[in-house]
Amino acid sequence: MKTKIIVSKFGGTSMGDYAAMMNAATISKERTSSIVCVSATSGTTDKLIQIAKTAATGNMPECEKLIFQMKERHMNLLEQVPAHGSESGNILLAYFTELELLAQGLTLLKELTPRAYDLILSFGERMSSVIFTEVVKSQLPGKDVQLLDARTIIRTDSNFGRATPQIELISTAARMLKLDGNTVYVTQGFIGSDSDGHTTILGRGGSDYSAALFAEGVEADVLEIWTDVAGIATTDPRIVPEAKIISELSYAEAGEMAQYGAKILHPATIAPAVRKNIPVFVGSTFAKDAAGTWIRASAEHKPAVRAITKRSDQALLTITTPVMLNAYGFMSEIFGVFGRHRVSVDCVTTSEISVAVTVDKVVLDNEKFVRDLETVGKVNVETGYALISLIGNDLYNRSNLAKTIFSNIEEMNVRMMSLGASPYNFNFLVKEADAKTCIQTLHQNLIG
Ligand code: ADP
Ligand code: ASP
Ligand code: MG
Repeated sequence: MKTKIIVSKFGGTSMGDYAAMMNAATISKERTSSIVCVSATSGTTDKLIQIAKTAATGNMPECEKLIFQMKERHMNLLEQVPAHGSESGNILLAYFTELELLAQGLTLLKELTPRAYDLILSFGERMSSVIFTEVVKSQLPGKDVQLLDARTIIRTDSNFGRATPQIELISTAARMLKLDGNTVYVTQGFIGSDSDGHTTILGRGGSDYSAALFAEGVEADVLEIWTDVAGIATTDPRIVPEAKIISELSYAEAGEMAQYGAKILHPATIAPAVRKNIPVFVGSTFAKDAAGTWIRASAEHKPAVRAITKRSDQALLTITTPVMLNAYGFMSEIFGVFGRHRVSVDCVTTSEISVAVTVDKVVLDNEKFVRDLETVGKVNVETGYALISLIGNDLYNRSNLAKTIFSNIEEMNVRMMSLGASPYNFNFLVKEADAKTCIQTLHQNLIG
């Protein structure tokens, strides 16, 4: 009988302390995972960013302090694993020495290149995976548990900070893996390597994406995302605590949710699963027997409004052409600038002479992008917005939907809205200050 191939991913909270790691190892054992892809321990990636930025200001004593704290936490974690191999301790110590040398180099140069940034951030996942390998070994004595360097499989381009995976190369590399039912690979999420062998990262929250790429590469039977909530909820439970876990949703709905701000999944996670038609399970490491969420090609139940998401820190750019009436080529010039700078547009509306688009506010830090846009037309920037999205089915054929939505949030100024590109989403822009109330009200009236 063919071995069922399960790829399981555990997030930062699941790596947060020894007890959480033990839960994760128990799950890997029960689910018979072949590949276990892990995040950095909770908070570590943020700390590494702080180290990188502090080093670039030349403040080595502060870096040393931060690195020391990180070392204490990770060495302590390893110490808790009974009978762990001494080699793992040596690997960790070597990582901390390397991190310190890197910080020293940056301190002297007083500059942080994108390549150095990715290398520094990669240490989080590299450290947690060394420790977690020992935990899994202690729980699965009969198995061949191996620490796998994800950079040998997850091949990417050299777009540091948010590299693009090279799907063909990943599939070829993944074929080298032994999927015999006895081997368990523990590997890192988030990191990859480019054609020169330099370490790259897939962007914040990228471990979900890594796991999906591994699943695609080995043509897994199931991809499991284990996190700190018992599945995908109808909205972020931090905004609406009574939000319900969705038992089943389609790839299309999950993809829209991730794209429009549901932090539980990295936006790119669904695409590899779709390409190989791999069912995705989302569950909690801390409630492993709860039903969780299944994401499949299609869901049986197709409600009009399934979920509500929020994408914060949005900027609205309005680009106006100086050429009035029947201007053509304007849109392609605008999107050409977006394409060259790899800026993704979340929502767009047009009039005869202007185009309004929402983007993550951080993209405005790229001054060259804004300057290039200004060569196409006059650019007006407004900030302080959140993009609210209703995710569901057949949304553009639901009579009365718009009326129901807007009568519930009458007093709020809706600055922009978009419906019609996809049957799965309806999104609109409100002031960030109104976003929470907007979601709570709509959740209560449309879902709750
Ligand atoms: P991990 O470290 O495991 O990847 P994340 O913090 O990235 O975990 O994602 C899980 C978090 O996503 C949850 O704790 C929750 O606050 C948030 N979240 C946002 N939207 C949703 C949603 N619709 N359903 C469930 N969780 C959500
Ligand atoms: N550790 C990385 C981050 O915090 C990747 C991840 O956890 O998914 O962004
Ligand atoms: Mg995450």
